[in-house]
Amino acid sequence: MLKQTIEKIEFIDLQAQQRALGDKIPQVMHEVLKHGGYILGPEVKKLEEELAIYTQATDVITCSNGTDALRLLLLAYGVGPGDAVFVPSFTFASTAEVVAQANATPVFVDICPKTYNMDPKSLEQAIATVAKLSLNPKGIIAVDLFGMPANYDALHQVAAQHHLWLIADAAQSFGGAINGKVVGNLATTTATSFFPSKPLACYGDGGAIFTTDEKIGNLIRSLRNHGCGADRYDHIHIGLNSRLDTLQAAILIEKLRIFPLELARRKEIAAMYNQGLASLVTVPTHAPEVSPAWGLYSILCPDNQRAQVMQGLAEHQVPSNVYYRKPLHLQPAYAHFPRAAASLIHTETISSQVLSLPMHPYLSNAQVEYIIEAMHQVLG
Ligand SMILES: *Cc1c(COP(=O)(O)O)cnc(C)c1O
Repeated sequence: MLKQTIEKIEFIDLQAQQRALGDKIPQVMHEVLKHGGYILGPEVKKLEEELAIYTQATDVITCSNGTDALRLLLLAYGVGPGDAVFVPSFTFASTAEVVAQANATPVFVDICPKTYNMDPKSLEQAIATVAKLSLNPKGIIAVDLFGMPANYDALHQVAAQHHLWLIADAAQSFGGAINGKVVGNLATTTATSFFPSKPLACYGDGGAIFTTDEKIGNLIRSLRNHGCGADRYDHIHIGLNSRLDTLQAAILIEKLRIFPLELARRKEIAAMYNQGLASLVTVPTHAPEVSPAWGLYSILCPDNQRAQVMQGLAEHQVPSNVYYRKPLHLQPAYAHFPRAAASLIHTETISSQVLSLPMHPYLSNAQVEYIIEAMHQVLG
């Protein structure tokens, strides 16, 4: 049972964050209510400028959600029927969904067993597979799963060799970095999400595109607003309605202010977990130059013991979740699409063992220690 001194542990604690923000959020919401610029109001532009400073991206375009951020990028790259886009299978549905929605073909790639991110070798295999089909290989969407930036050096090499573009799906990794270079600036184009459970999050749906290519930035700024030109009622592209609400932008500006502190705390918690759990289960590992955002903290349970671990943790009032139980290449809606090999072995193994523990910046040391102790009791 939970010790008397430990507060209830949440998987992600948005209430604690609200308490930390005090009356800031109602204040900035009230400002928006006062000026009434609900669509593309001044806070949207301000947020985009602040995100550009944070990421060092040339251009930042906010949009309705992370899925649309990917969708807008595929529109900008002109992806359509007959095109193949390489995606990991071990990811949230959006990564492949946007490709299929563009009437193109997602091609599933396996992951590295250590980082759970796209394996450049499996990518090469997938490219060879597509060469035998009558499809045009167009690009790659790499995912920074659980907040750990993908191996962009290796992926860029494969992309360049095969004349493919590379999009970073950074929905889980805002705040991550490689060699001090921040997510948003690790690929020419990056998509992120501000869904409430992501590292930087609003109180609803939201997303953004980061790019170092000014042309793509300008195109996407038009596409997210019905393909408008200089005038709102000039339509120079066929676009969509995918603007970030001004209210959400105002909320994100305040959340971005505390984000560096939150990120530092996530890193402390991940280090405590790593130290406390390494003898018990497989803990996340990464190259020394990689700095994860710790959107989620995920371990691998010993074979066939995940259900028991989850049950045991629940008995100790410790919530846990599985991301993702069923990889996309085995999902009914996606199983017919091509893949790098008949079975994506690392994806299949890891999806059967992976388990995410509570991760948010407002976990106390006592709570983290309690979770580690609970893990030892369950598996000891
Ligand atoms: C959350 C997520 C998305 C989609 O973001 P939404 O804002 O929910 O549309 C895309 N890709 C990955 C990897 C995600 O985790």
